[in-house]
Amino acid sequence: MRDPRYDILFEPVQIGPVTARNRFYQVPHCNGMGYRDPSGEAVMRQVKAEGGWAVVCTEQVEIHPTSDIGPFIELRIWDDQDMPALARIADKIHEGGALAGIELAHNGLNSPNLISRETPLSPQHLPVATFSYDPVQARAMTKADIADVRRWHRQAVRRSIDVGYDIVYVYAGHALGGLHHFLSRRYNNRTDEYGGSLTNRIRFLREVLEDSREEADGKAAIACRITINELLGEDGITRTEIEDTIGEIGEHPDLWDFVLGSWEDDSVTSRFGPEAEQEPYVRGLKDLTTKPVVGVGRFTSPDTMVHQIESGVLDLIGAARPSIADPFLPRKIETGNLEDIRECIGCNICVSGDFTMSPIRCTQNPTMGEEFRRGWHPERIRVKSSDAHVLVVGAGPAGMEAARSLGQRGYRVSLAESTRVLGGRVEREAKLPGLSAWIRVVDYRQQQLRKLDNVDVFLQSEMTADDIIDNDFNHVVLATGSHWRSDGVGRWHTHPIEIADGADVLTPDAILAGLRPRGERVVLFDDDHYYLGGVVAELLAKENFDVTLVTPGAHVSAWTVNTMEVARIRKRIIRAGITVETNTTLNRITADSVDTGCVFTGDERTFSADSVVLVTSRLPENRLFDELNARESEWAKADLRSVRAIGDAWAPSTIAAAVWAGHRYAEELDEPTSADVPFLREVTELSAQPGRLLPLAVESAPA
Ligand code: ADP
Ligand code: SF4
Repeated sequence: MRDPRYDILFEPVQIGPVTARNRFYQVPHCNGMGYRDPSGEAVMRQVKAEGGWAVVCTEQVEIHPTSDIGPFIELRIWDDQDMPALARIADKIHEGGALAGIELAHNGLNSPNLISRETPLSPQHLPVATFSYDPVQARAMTKADIADVRRWHRQAVRRSIDVGYDIVYVYAGHALGGLHHFLSRRYNNRTDEYGGSLTNRIRFLREVLEDSREEADGKAAIACRITINELLGEDGITRTEIEDTIGEIGEHPDLWDFVLGSWEDDSVTSRFGPEAEQEPYVRGLKDLTTKPVVGVGRFTSPDTMVHQIESGVLDLIGAARPSIADPFLPRKIETGNLEDIRECIGCNICVSGDFTMSPIRCTQNPTMGEEFRRGWHPERIRVKSSDAHVLVVGAGPAGMEAARSLGQRGYRVSLAESTRVLGGRVEREAKLPGLSAWIRVVDYRQQQLRKLDNVDVFLQSEMTADDIIDNDFNHVVLATGSHWRSDGVGRWHTHPIEIADGADVLTPDAILAGLRPRGERVVLFDDDHYYLGGVVAELLAKENFDVTLVTPGAHVSAWTVNTMEVARIRKRIIRAGITVETNTTLNRITADSVDTGCVFTGDERTFSADSVVLVTSRLPENRLFDELNARESEWAKADLRSVRAIGDAWAPSTIAAAVWAGHRYAEELDEPTSADVPFLREVTELSAQPGRLLPLAVESAPA
């Protein structure tokens, strides 16, 4: 059972009129499901409640069409039509045993209103502050606009309480909530009573807090999420200002939820920030209010959590990502099963769900986002449907997850790995600069495999088609991975490029195996656009190679805009002295130079280079798969019923996709999968109004 050291984490906390059963608090987080997939979101939140979180919150909920942050998919509480979806989410959270929190937001300057076409509202006339440079300007709010937003917020509070929420947020955080823009000198240059002095800049927030309390009338707690430091020096919200703010309105909400800087700062990846990074910023603020305080810090270690409470930094352990990677984190601490915790690796693949407007996914937790539509659960899986013996070939993320989940179902599993170590690409990539936390993908699965008597792991066991056919395996799943191409084929070049004899060309596989460029001047061509090109460039620069990174993308590691890393990566690349050529392709490699081309004009330039690293695309490691398929006539005699390839061996993708593929294989083995669409989905209900065109007769008035 639970270690008494962690008892403090299980003390109840009073939050205004409601009581949290313990100190585990799932703070609001986006999930790419929102108004499009509300049942998907509801069951995802329910699982967390079941996993022991005392409070489970929604993401931001737009209170009005002037706060439309489309194309991003969050929740809405525009009018009564949104109530059933919000009610379902609250009900499911309650079914799981947690308090339900709702993060009401008027996004002001952050809402381009692309869907509603309303004019965005802001403290001053400014272009909207969105991620995509939308050609839209916000209008400086009049007193009437301020009164409108207050009224809409009140209505939203009332509706939230009507559908059962226990904690209702006022959002002034991350430069995403409009109240943040009023607070910040960066955005607020008003000369009326809502601008200028701090007291004036707080006024709007104070009014909305007061309205919300009055409207809640003791039926729900009011929480305030606020940025405690904009990290902009004197140009933005400073520590002193936030201390003064709490001095003035510290008792207004029932709970303070402190966030650091922008969302990018608050959800920093493990490549750029450690666990509990916010601690020095939050420390001391709790002393300024009698109200409970929640904060985040990618907390996965119960000792760190206890430290936050005992040293008086926080009252509640806030988590978004740790609750995504392991919805059962609190239960595992409560039952003393710390070794079962699936620790977040801090990769922000979860964030990419929001940025790509697709249901949230997680590298560590393949069931995330699949709870409703596929019925997957992070801790439970249906028992096996046959006594088959399954061979999993390859112990990368796909193979390890397949073996783990098949083992959990009760199948007899043999996991064969040709090298001496488990983990495949993760084991190798985790040694690259900044990626050490990624080894948790391997650690968690290795730990779980140890516990499963029905799974045998064989290292240094390179499998051949003969080995497989001569043995008693009923199902074979090939998770043999992939290798990087050395011919330049990728997104830009769909045919091999010209490479002269004698040219020194390496791939990430060679670098990860310990090989290094033969000369000092290295050109790295990144046509992959995720993290690896940038990380390998960083590694080589650290080792004093003179690195030029050439990419057809507009940014280094362009896709990491979706993991909120693109700016930090560029900063690191600049600081490392790496030369960057964006919008540029690599056309030809000679023994001592490369020819590049401008992606717009095609104009070529020649750079001296001793060596070239190609990070373009990968090919599946599928020889064994092909050999086994070629011998299909021998399967029946060997009672071999199926051969499948999964993960990178099927089609190279992310580590998250490999883990997911391993899990899917295990979930679906021996189960019927006949449906054309293999998951539940919600289709927009047609309006009762078929349309409101004016009749033809009144289309044009008589002259
Ligand atoms: P994925 O991301 O799909 O899990 P990885 O490349 O990370 O793929 O892992 C593939 C693993 O498969 C590697 O550890 C590799 O050593 C192993 N492997 C490849 N071929 C064989 C084989 N024939 N027998 C056993 N293990 C293999
Ligand atoms: Fe953590 Fe990555 Fe999962 Fe997000 S996707 S919760 S950062 S492991």
